[in-house]
Amino acid sequence: MEIKYSDKLMSLPPYLFIELDRKKKELQQKGVDIISLGVGDPDLPTHSHIIEAMKKAIDNPKTHQYPFGKGLEEFCVAVANWYKKRFNVELDPNNEVHSLIGSKEGIAHLPLAFVDKDDYVLVPEPGYPVYSSSVILAGGKVYYMSLKEDNNFLPILEDIPKDILKRTKLMFLNYPNNPTTQVATKKFFERVVEFAKEYNIIVAHDCAYSEIYFKDDKLDDSIPPISFLSIKGAKDVGIEFHSLSKTYNMTGWRVGFVCGNKDIIFGLSKVKDNYDSGVFSAIQYAAIAALEGPQDCIENVRQIYKERRDILFNGLRKLGLDVFLPKATFYLWCKVPKKETSLSFAEKLLNVGVVVTPGVGMGKSGEGYVRFALTVPKERIQEALERIKKVL
Ligand SMILES: *Cc1c(COP(=O)(O)O)cnc(C)c1O
Repeated sequence: MEIKYSDKLMSLPPYLFIELDRKKKELQQKGVDIISLGVGDPDLPTHSHIIEAMKKAIDNPKTHQYPFGKGLEEFCVAVANWYKKRFNVELDPNNEVHSLIGSKEGIAHLPLAFVDKDDYVLVPEPGYPVYSSSVILAGGKVYYMSLKEDNNFLPILEDIPKDILKRTKLMFLNYPNNPTTQVATKKFFERVVEFAKEYNIIVAHDCAYSEIYFKDDKLDDSIPPISFLSIKGAKDVGIEFHSLSKTYNMTGWRVGFVCGNKDIIFGLSKVKDNYDSGVFSAIQYAAIAALEGPQDCIENVRQIYKERRDILFNGLRKLGLDVFLPKATFYLWCKVPKKETSLSFAEKLLNVGVVVTPGVGMGKSGEGYVRFALTVPKERIQEALERIKKVL
């Protein structure tokens, strides 16, 4: 029999990070010592009080059944309390919070609830690849908003053609931003609310890195990062995706949540009711322990990333590379040397066993950049710098 894939599936680009992982494993099999600064996956373990909560929860047979729906009552309350404490945002745990099997899952399903054939979705580029693939799989069209250095890696909303905006249902935003590490200002978010109301566009803000930020000596009112939902009127137009993955070193657990406008969340919940059966209850109890437990564990993690960031930032600068000092996220966004492209430079580094993400893989405005992830111990970062020196 001839197996024929859907046009939608065939129009997807290869999933960047799976490609990177495959290349890495191939080299490892040849015995090459690989320093992986490609995929951003925390190397630090999940904090022990979270693991203990999971162990206890799993002994209760009630957690073994289908969880279904928005999540445990206690989970939604824990999220609402955390949002109030961290962002001073009020959420109704009954209808303004919904658990997710990682925020990637919610992001990927969202367009199915709002996008009809040939509707447009505004997607930042360079950016997390799931925004565009979810639109393509839902049968929609992507309009890319470039994030460029000369506009502080914020999209220029005024540049989007009016005839596109008329057919636009949804926009994705992501601050602190992966990969550019930029943090959004309150002023920008205020403009987004105004813009969304003017053109009747749903705003989906991906806030996965809100807790990975750095306090430098300079006073900076963009740190700690704010929630989009803290802006007046934001809850009329939008939702925010959140993840425990980066905040609590829980990427493998698959738990996150979405919060904000209840009608938008209702749309997503309808898709989810038909596609999945919720987050394993024992994992929800672990997530509650994370959200309600001591938050100084995050501060320790921030300190570790900051030390790594400083070593890599200073090291790359010394080598003459043009790199941005990140205020947030665990990435470094770095210009490639003149005469290199992001692919040629990434390949050079791969030849000496250093894996980075070529910026162009995350969107065409990422050309000329590579992304380093800070998710390896500092000794390995130092070793990576030694190897990079050799290829320059
Ligand atoms: C890591 C990441 C996510 C996904 O996190 P999960 O909750 O683990 O699915 C979402 N958005 C961005 C920008 C990320 O980098």
